[in-house]
Amino acid sequence: MRYDFTIFGSGISAKITSCLLARDGFKVCLVTDKKQGLEKPPTNLVTFLSVGSLNYLSSQLPDIAFFSKYPEIRAIKCQLNDLNKNRHQSIKFNNESNEILGKIVKNTELEQYLDNKIIKLNNINIINSNPPAHVENITDGVKLTLKSGEVLLSDLFLLSSSQIDISKQLEISFIEQDLKQQALSISIKANLLHKNCAFQKFTSDGPLALLPYSDKEASIVWSLNSNSEILIKNNEELINSINDHLQKEITSTKIISIEKHNLKFVYAKRLRSKNIVLLGNIAHNIHPIAGQGLNLSIKDIALFLKLMTKYRSIGYRVNNNVVLEEYEINRKLDNAAYSFGTFLLNDILSSNNQLINFTARKGIRLADKIRPLKRIFTDSATGNKFFRSL
Ligand SMILES: Cc1cc2nc3c(=O)[nH]c(=O)nc-3n(C[C@H](O)[C@H](O)[C@H](O)COP(=O)(O)OP(=O)(O)OC[C@H]3O[C@@H](n4cnc5c(N)ncnc54)[C@H](O)[C@@H]3O)c2cc1C
Repeated sequence: MRYDFTIFGSGISAKITSCLLARDGFKVCLVTDKKQGLEKPPTNLVTFLSVGSLNYLSSQLPDIAFFSKYPEIRAIKCQLNDLNKNRHQSIKFNNESNEILGKIVKNTELEQYLDNKIIKLNNINIINSNPPAHVENITDGVKLTLKSGEVLLSDLFLLSSSQIDISKQLEISFIEQDLKQQALSISIKANLLHKNCAFQKFTSDGPLALLPYSDKEASIVWSLNSNSEILIKNNEELINSINDHLQKEITSTKIISIEKHNLKFVYAKRLRSKNIVLLGNIAHNIHPIAGQGLNLSIKDIALFLKLMTKYRSIGYRVNNNVVLEEYEINRKLDNAAYSFGTFLLNDILSSNNQLINFTARKGIRLADKIRPLKRIFTDSATGNKFFRSL
């Protein structure tokens, strides 16, 4: 059997893409990178889903009921420390039209929903425990040879996994950097003092985000240098540090779970090589500082799906060069802006250099005063402008 798409990966990007393509009647083969008998333990990671991403997913998957239980995020407050005096500089983003900015949802819940959905779709074949060994562009599609020797033929191959270095077989170069940072992902129970508000503090140890996902629960994401002493603190010491930083935001903090995630920067210079397209973190793995990694991938997926269905309806094949070029050109700028923007932002706002700190504070004060500038940041973070343009 020949497929329209073979997709390799088992992250959220691969799942959303397979689900939407199969739902729209394309023949899909999803090859996962799950190892037999080795189920991934559930993660405590949460995702700030912008209102644009939320509305898009809800419109495409109308039975996605669980979004409604999460509280609305109506404001995001950012705070920068002064290195000399213990003074803070703050900026608050909210939507002038009183629309919400987004919601914070648990990754495991989104993944579970997608897993259940995919299993029920007819035109999707799922292959577990048999990853690709070789990928090759052929004249009218892609030949994917799995470890077992089985060959899959498709018009397009969507690569969405970094598990096996299949990307080395592509004619695509990557900018990669180990950020030598780890993100502590801590789920807490606490008394949250500001409802419907996410908070990010740029501490001298690294950015610390407070992401509330229920009345009494929140996730803390603290990005730290790999040699930071905070990474080796015990729970009691960690709670003390968190309470010090978040004393105006939370009280009665209890840690539920802690995970560590190595942070890596990846930017693919091209999103495709002939009939092979990169989707998700493999195309752009960005710093969690702006909470935009998955939102960026959802924008990619939304445009990809729109172009595939539009051009199929007028008789084009999914690997038509014109269609794929249109996709790549239209996603390049946004992807580059977020990838390199978040990279720089992390450097600037977490810097211990007096001059950089002074300039950053001036910049924040200015941005806070110029309403059109603030609106540009907010519009971009909500994804509204992009999704309306689809
Ligand atoms: C701490 C943290 C907080 C975040 N917060 C937000 C947020 O608020 N908002 C937002 O939009 N995004 C956020 N992100 C980014 C978001 O989680 C990712 O963009 C999203 O999960 C990517 O999914 P993916 O399917 O593209 O890629 P991945 O999750 O990377 O999965 C792709 C595939 O690669 C494999 N894989 C991944 N890493 C490895 C590895 N090291 N070794 C072997 N195989 C691997 C997986 O098995 C999977 O099949 C955050 C990320 C982190 C680390």
